[in-house]
Amino acid sequence: MKRYLSKSRFKLGLECPTKLYYTNKNEYANQKKEDDFLDALAQGGFQLEELARLEYDGGTLVDGNPWDYHLLVKKTNELLKQENIILYEPAFLYNNCFIRVDILVKKGNSVELIEVKAKSINSNDKYSILGKRGGLRSEWKAYLFDIAFQNYVMENAFSNWTIEPFLLLIDKSKTATVDGLNQKFKVTSKSNNRTGIIVKEGTTKDDIGESILAKVPVETIISNIKSGVYKYDESLSFIEAISLFSEYYSKDIKINSPVNVKCKNCEFYTTVYNDSLKSGYIECWKEQVNISNYAITNEPKVYEVGNFKLASKLIEEGLYLMKDITEDDITIVPKLNGLSLSERQWLQISKVKENDNTPYIDIDGLKLEMRNWKFPLHFIDFETSTVAIPFNKGKKPYEQIAFQFSHHKVLEDGSISHESEYINSEAGCFPNFDFLRNLKKSLSFDDGSIFKYSYHENTILNAIYLQLISSNEKDKEELVDFIQSISHSKNESAISWVGDRDMIDLCEMVKLYYYDPQTKGSNSIKAVLPAVLNSSEYLKNKYSKPIKEISLTSLNFNDDKVFIEFDKNDKVISPYKSLPQLFDDWSEDELDSLMSDLEGIDNGGAALIAYSKLQFQEMNDAERLEIRKALLMYCELDTLAMVMIYEFFRESVK
Ligand code: SF4
Repeated sequence: MKRYLSKSRFKLGLECPTKLYYTNKNEYANQKKEDDFLDALAQGGFQLEELARLEYDGGTLVDGNPWDYHLLVKKTNELLKQENIILYEPAFLYNNCFIRVDILVKKGNSVELIEVKAKSINSNDKYSILGKRGGLRSEWKAYLFDIAFQNYVMENAFSNWTIEPFLLLIDKSKTATVDGLNQKFKVTSKSNNRTGIIVKEGTTKDDIGESILAKVPVETIISNIKSGVYKYDESLSFIEAISLFSEYYSKDIKINSPVNVKCKNCEFYTTVYNDSLKSGYIECWKEQVNISNYAITNEPKVYEVGNFKLASKLIEEGLYLMKDITEDDITIVPKLNGLSLSERQWLQISKVKENDNTPYIDIDGLKLEMRNWKFPLHFIDFETSTVAIPFNKGKKPYEQIAFQFSHHKVLEDGSISHESEYINSEAGCFPNFDFLRNLKKSLSFDDGSIFKYSYHENTILNAIYLQLISSNEKDKEELVDFIQSISHSKNESAISWVGDRDMIDLCEMVKLYYYDPQTKGSNSIKAVLPAVLNSSEYLKNKYSKPIKEISLTSLNFNDDKVFIEFDKNDKVISPYKSLPQLFDDWSEDELDSLMSDLEGIDNGGAALIAYSKLQFQEMNDAERLEIRKALLMYCELDTLAMVMIYEFFRESVK
C-alpha cells in the first residue's frame, strides 16, 4: 500500500521528523500506547463533533473503510458534484498527502473548512490564540499547523475553490441554556461508527439550546504559516516540511533530526534491545553522538535534571551526560530554608557524578516544619475531571468536576484511620457542592493540620469557590467560609485569602528537605513513594504485614491486605501494582500518560477516564460497581501513600 502523509503523521513529523521512519513498524519499540477513542472519551472530543454536526445539520457523512483512501476520495468527489452541500469527514488526496475534514460546507465554489477541536477558548479574550505581540501561542501551534495542512491539501486538490478555514472550539465564556446537554451524547461501542457516539433519539438543533461553540476564522494565521511568518520550529518552513515529510515518508527514508531534549520522551525506546525489537532512540543517539553504547543506554542525560532549562543549550554544545555537567554550567542560588531549585539540581547532578545512591534528608529543616504540624493530621486527595459539554443549564464548558475524595487521619500516637471518603459518579449529576459538604463534614471535627500533595487540591477548591459564588445554594456562605479556611486564593482571584488551616503541601516538603536518587529528579508521588519505601526499614517492616496487624483501618481493603511485597531483588513492588486495573490492558501509568496533555488535567488520567465512562457509557450495574470499587481503592492508596511519606519523615527526624 502506498505510504501517504496523513494529518497525524504530519503532526508526528513536526514533533520530530525522524519519528516518521520508526512509526508503524513492528520491529521498533513504541512506548506510546495510543487510543483515539479513550482520548476522545476523556476529552469529550467525539461528543463535541456530534454536537457540531447538530449545529451544521443536514450534512452527509462520507463513511467507509477508513483505510481505503481511494474509495473515500471517490465518494467525496461524487458528493461534491452537488452545488451546495454539507459533508462530514470528506476525504482529499493531493500528491502523497491524505486528509479527512471534520465538517465542510460548500456553496458553489466557496468552501468552509471546519476543524472541530475539544479545546476551549474564551471568545472574550482577543489574545487567546495570538499573544499581545502577535506571536502564535505555543499551545495552539499543533492545531493550527494541522488545519494549515488540511487547507494545503484541499486548495491543491481543488484549485478553483475559495476556502475559508475555521476552528470550531468550545467557548468557555458561554453557558449551557438547556439541562442535561451532555447526557444527550452517549458513548457506545467503537465498532458502530468512528465517533462511537449515539445522539439521544429525536434530538434536534432546537434541543441543544444556544451554541456553546466558538467558530474562529484562521485564514490570516494560515497564510502566515504558509509564508513562513509563523514557524513550528526554526528548522523548517511549512511548505518545506510537507514536501520533505511526504517524500521521505513515501519512500520510507529516515530524516536525521538532531538529538535534543525532545528525545527525553521519545516513544521509540526500549531497554530490551535485540534484533526483533529495535530502539529508535538508541539508533538516533548512536548515529549522532560520540558516546559509548553503555552510556547511551544507562547513563543519566542532562535532560533528566529536574526542571533544568539549560538542558537544550548544553546538548547543542555537545554535552549529553549529567555526570559531565560542572559547577560552571549551572548558577547555584541558595535559599534560607531548605533547598532552592538550583541547589536541588546540583544535588541530583553531584550524586550522579559521585555515583552516590543514598538519599539526602535535611533533618533540622524538617524538624522545624514538623513542629508546626497540629494533630490529628489529615491527608486528603481529590479525583477530578473536566467535562467539555456542561451538565446543566447555567454551567460552563470544561468546568472542574470534583467527584471523589479520600481522607486519612493520623493521631499523635501513630494510629492511622482511613477516616472518610466520597464518590459521586451518577450520570448527569453535577457533584461539586455535595462533594464539598462531605469534605467539610469530614474535616470539621477538629482543627488538625491538613495535607495535600502538590497544588491540585487548592486549584479545585478555588474553582468550586467561583462556582459557589454564582450559585443559589442555600448554604453557600458556610461553604465559602470553609473553602477559605483550608485553602489560599490563586493570584488571579478578585478576593484574596489565606486560610487558618491552609493545606500544607507535602510535595513542597519533599522538594525542600528530601532528595532520593531513585526518584531521578521527579517529585511526583508515584516516584517518591517507592523511593521512601525502599529506603525505610520501618515502612518495609510495617507495611509488609496485613492491615489487621498494624495500627491502620481501611474502608476498601480487607484486614488481610498487605500493601508491600518484594521482587526477587528485594526491592519493594509499588503498592499500586497490586490494585485491579481500571481498564483491560491499560496500567494506571499508561492511562495517566495518555491523558497527560489534556486541558486542565494535572493528574489522575485513569480516574478521569473512569469517570467519563461512568458518565457517558452505557454499562450494566456490575460493570459500574467494578469501576467504582477500583476508583475507591486507588484514591485510598493515594492518601495512604501521603501518610507513608509522612511516616518516613517522622521516623527520619527521630
Ligand atoms: S530519539 Fe530523538 S531524534 Fe530520535 S526519533 Fe526520538 S526524538 Fe527524534
